[in-house]
Amino acid sequence: MDLVIVGGGPAGLTAGLYASRGGLKNVVMFEKSVFGGQITKSSEIENYPGVVEVVSGLELMEKWPEQAARFGVKQEFAGVKRVSKAEDNFFDITLEDDTHLKAKSVIICTGSNPKKSGVDGEDEFYGKGVSFCATCDGFFYRNKEVAVLGGGDAALEEALFLTNICQKVYLVHRRDEFRASPATVQRVKKNAKIELVLNSTVKKIYGDTSGVNGVIVADKEGNERDLKVPGVFVFVGMKVNNEVLLQENGSFLCEMSKGGEAVVDLNMRTSVKGLFAAGDIRINAAKQVVCAAADGAVAAIGAIGYLESLHE
Ligand code: FAD
Ligand code: NAP
Repeated sequence: MDLVIVGGGPAGLTAGLYASRGGLKNVVMFEKSVFGGQITKSSEIENYPGVVEVVSGLELMEKWPEQAARFGVKQEFAGVKRVSKAEDNFFDITLEDDTHLKAKSVIICTGSNPKKSGVDGEDEFYGKGVSFCATCDGFFYRNKEVAVLGGGDAALEEALFLTNICQKVYLVHRRDEFRASPATVQRVKKNAKIELVLNSTVKKIYGDTSGVNGVIVADKEGNERDLKVPGVFVFVGMKVNNEVLLQENGSFLCEMSKGGEAVVDLNMRTSVKGLFAAGDIRINAAKQVVCAAADGAVAAIGAIGYLESLHE
């Protein structure tokens, strides 16, 4: 392979488009879950330039794989276990079924995944009342009350989305200030279906064999409140998917930040020649679809330049 792209979200799909349209012939992209990436789980996106109407993440991403495929990038449904350095300037790509491939260059676009809150009951009731995706599971709580945990853009936007389906949404946040953008905070504050439960943490998610029955929240003074909801949506941030860079000896293939993100320069080059990282996985990522896509384009242009330099 000339180029292997790991991950088929906005960064990977754009890297595939630019690499194949830029003339690379043997380009393969591996995606282990859903082509389109994490935004396909978002109920709405309104800040992708040029897309004026509010669309769901799934709608936004629908045509991206087709557009990339038109220029020849092969899209494979498979997980990559590890990327390592092999001899002669090649990278060794180990797939989850232990198949090995060799590639002259690699772009890591593995993105990020929702973090768990660590609250008691979160694991026990995952899929039985605890969810990380309002678009996927909101409908199960039609005309019911739900709780949303978190104070960032994801929590507030998904809380707003849930008000279209649910009778009431408790937004539980550990502080009284939000990380979300001011415009979103204003929309939340104006929404009569959202009750803000601030300066409060969830002590426990409880239920029985049929699922969640409620959450116990406590404020800073220790006063507890029992919110009797059948659904809890957790949006407490994202964790980068850096496992593919982890080597058998426990070190990472390239230089990483303390937070586990790949350190790159402005051309998305990592500390290892021929290895690029783009999107949420890279250091200082703005964690936006438009930025991930742009990173993918920059990385692909860099990979084309790198492959050319091998022939000089
Ligand atoms: P991802 O989208 O995370 O894609 C990475 C892909 O790699 C995934 O499909 C994953 O399955 C795959 N993958 C991971 N590991 C492997 C492996 N080992 N082998 C093969 N495949 C692998 N951004 C905005 O701009 N506007 C918004 O309104 C907005 N709303 C959001 C709402 C929510 C609920 C969430 C969660 C995010 C939102 N974002 C929004 C952020 C945006 O979705 C991300 O910044 C963007 O998707 C990052 O793109 P990416 O390609 O870097 O990674
Ligand atoms: P985030 O911005 O990191 O916010 C996480 C929130 O969860 C914070 O309010 C945090 O509280 C809270 N939190 C963290 N750990 C917790 C715990 N264990 N228990 C309770 N609360 C906890 O995460 P995000 O909202 O998922 O967003 C991730 C990135 O994607 C951000 O960069 C965001 O801007 C971007 N994004 C953008 C959009 C958009 O552009 N429209 C939409 C969604 C996401 P504290 O505030 O007290 O730390």
